[in-house]
Amino acid sequence: MLKSFLIDYLQQEKWQPDGGEAQSPIAIVTQDTITQTDENAGLYFSFEKEVCNFNNNGQNLQLLALGEAILNGERHVLMQVHFHSEAEHTIDGQSFPLEGHFVYQNGNGELAVVAVLFAEGEENQEFQQVLAEFDSENALMISAELLLPENKSYYHYTGSLTTPPLTENVKWFVLQENLTVSTSQIEAFCALHGKNRRQLQPLNQRTVFAYHC
Ligand SMILES: [Zn+2]
Repeated sequence: MLKSFLIDYLQQEKWQPDGGEAQSPIAIVTQDTITQTDENAGLYFSFEKEVCNFNNNGQNLQLLALGEAILNGERHVLMQVHFHSEAEHTIDGQSFPLEGHFVYQNGNGELAVVAVLFAEGEENQEFQQVLAEFDSENALMISAELLLPENKSYYHYTGSLTTPPLTENVKWFVLQENLTVSTSQIEAFCALHGKNRRQLQPLNQRTVFAYHC
């Protein structure tokens, strides 16, 4: 069953950002990144429970998971996890079929998103459970951690939400290591959800940092 969402991706040129110069997603060009060396750099995750629930907020199906993360030395609380197909960020011009967004908030209410790019390949067992339970009211027994790659090297820049209200000052951490999903999983997600990719936005004067761990 195709859900009807309030956001119309076919009309996205009419979306009105509240700022406009620092929007997401962007095309990441690895040779233009600046290596991040400060001692606070790095991402450290913990997930409190293995039980997740779904919340359809009319914009995106959200996976509600409990957890915390230290992102660049600052404590954040996990708000929700959701997915986009096709992936929103590109790396050196390469597009991916799926992107997961782990949305975090710090103590000041500022948002950070950890993004995971999925290449087409082997089936992902955790994502299969997400797909299987999309329409149910059941709690989901998965470890959200398994939807993150093992290596936490990342690209970092300051951007925006990729759905209205497109709020800026969102810290992005796009993980460098990819996970995979199968062709049929990509098709199943699009059948359930429709395509929900925001088009690439100009980098303007922003710097993209790279952190290698
Ligand atoms: Zn998103």
